[in-house]
Amino acid sequence: MTAAEAIRDLFPARKLERLLLVAPPDADAALFDNSVARRGRYSNYPPYGLGIIATVARSLGIEVRLLNLNHEMLKAVAGEGSLVYGDFVAHAIRAVVTEFRPDMVGVTCICSMTHDSAVAVCREIRDVAPQLPLALGGVHVTNCFMGGELSSGVLDAYAMVDIFFLYESELSFRRFVDTVRGEEAQLCQIAVQSGGVRYIADGQCLPAEHEIDILPAHDLMKSGELSSFGTIGSFFCLKAGLVRVTTVLSNRGCRGGCAYCSVRNFNGPGVRHRSVSSVIEELTLLKESFGINHVMWLDDDFLFDGRRAINLFNEMVRSNLGITWDCTNGVVAASCTDELITAAAASGCIGLNLGIESGNPEILRRARKPGTVSQFLKAAEVLRKHQQINSRAYLMIGFPDETYSMVKDTLDLALEMKLDWYNINILKPLPNTEMGDEMMRRAMKSANSEETRFSTGPYAKKVGRALQHNPFDTAKGGAVPDADELAEIWSYMNYRINYDRLFDQDPGLKLDQHLKYLTHISRTVAPEDPIPLYFMLLLQQKKSGTASPEDLEILEALVAASDVKRKTLAFFGLCADDFKHQK
Ligand code: SF4
Repeated sequence: MTAAEAIRDLFPARKLERLLLVAPPDADAALFDNSVARRGRYSNYPPYGLGIIATVARSLGIEVRLLNLNHEMLKAVAGEGSLVYGDFVAHAIRAVVTEFRPDMVGVTCICSMTHDSAVAVCREIRDVAPQLPLALGGVHVTNCFMGGELSSGVLDAYAMVDIFFLYESELSFRRFVDTVRGEEAQLCQIAVQSGGVRYIADGQCLPAEHEIDILPAHDLMKSGELSSFGTIGSFFCLKAGLVRVTTVLSNRGCRGGCAYCSVRNFNGPGVRHRSVSSVIEELTLLKESFGINHVMWLDDDFLFDGRRAINLFNEMVRSNLGITWDCTNGVVAASCTDELITAAAASGCIGLNLGIESGNPEILRRARKPGTVSQFLKAAEVLRKHQQINSRAYLMIGFPDETYSMVKDTLDLALEMKLDWYNINILKPLPNTEMGDEMMRRAMKSANSEETRFSTGPYAKKVGRALQHNPFDTAKGGAVPDADELAEIWSYMNYRINYDRLFDQDPGLKLDQHLKYLTHISRTVAPEDPIPLYFMLLLQQKKSGTASPEDLEILEALVAASDVKRKTLAFFGLCADDFKHQK
């Protein structure tokens, strides 16, 4: 049997008139916490890929419904709400399948973190409609199809799925629809599962640059309301007033080929750009029809073509959109020239993350990072001139064979760069990446995907720990820290590069940015963590002469209830009594 024959078996009536698209909750039932959802901590990204498929389907005359379960759950618990995860998901799926009567359901699984949740959703759909063709797409699924140590056996969990869309799917979806309708079409990037056998049409059909000027179906994605119920990116908290945030994808792919990253696997080599006019059209639609006033670029290499980026920024200014923006996804430091960052700031940039990862040249070489220490320093120099841009960077520790002294290079670089904030991650491998496979082969503890699936973000376990000593003990310089020692290093580094220097922060724009961010961390992200709370109080005091008595009471209550928290502060020489004199 061929993939085309298997597809026609699934659609004996040769019709696909109603398509239901489903975005699963970000995490599964075991991780979802009503109280965390209520305080707005969970992320609520638009299902951008499904939005693009919806636009393509509509252009083929297909009626589309989009069920974004993540959003619907967060919306349901807002205010005083509460839900039972499994019941909510089952009811929502049953209701839409019964009422809409789709000819097919398409589910997305973007990342390995959502795997369990996507499996549960597929199971539920199969229970409700045993004969309904069920498709699955997204980065995670594509990675698993490509093989590799971490992905072996993962696809078995999707035995109930009929069709897998691999890579970017807008062209393969068109050909699939033609096939369903009985027309001749060259299937590509698709696999059909029937009777336990997978029939694969693996010809490549990534859309070319002139084929990606597509606006996703923002109406179905409910782009105007998502940020009222969860977070999108990490800079929106710097804005005052009502912030409506969504995401926009202005180009696809990345110039890099980092050994731990799967972008190149999914998007292919190089970068393809949308036209500037198409991006402006989308921003205008978002502003005028959905009231969006801040966007996070989804791009993996937003600044690859500097001339095009500057044109885009100039057009944003000319269009007078009044939209601010951020690059929560990291940008490549070498692109951050004075001219480009000046144009970025003028067009509404309020936050940028640099993808740095390491300050050690050998680690950068092994990771194949597109960047050098001198480029990082140069980019930091440019960013420091633009105070309105909150400049941050991603750092990573725990590379295979990375020693204490190599990690120390990263800490020292961060201090020298003097950016506003650093997000430190312990390296967790992705399926079908060179480093992921290496870590699995060497049985490194952090390669255990079950234990470490949620390594960052709102569902992550707390990384750090209370310290007994400075982990950068010189005697350990050449040793490779184990997983427990990495957690100690994380805590120490996080304090040294993010908090310690706030003692010297003068009042002004930067202090205001730090205060807004720490307020967000203390109120929404980590209300149990005494360190951001302590520094929020410190910055309040620097800004207005006094720390908030209510916030101080919260800090005092935290340390009174937990000896670990008191010791955590004490290790760094901090104490709630530091604010006592103002009482
Ligand atoms: S620069 Fe970023 S997006 Fe590009 S390959 Fe490296 S990690 Fe991936």
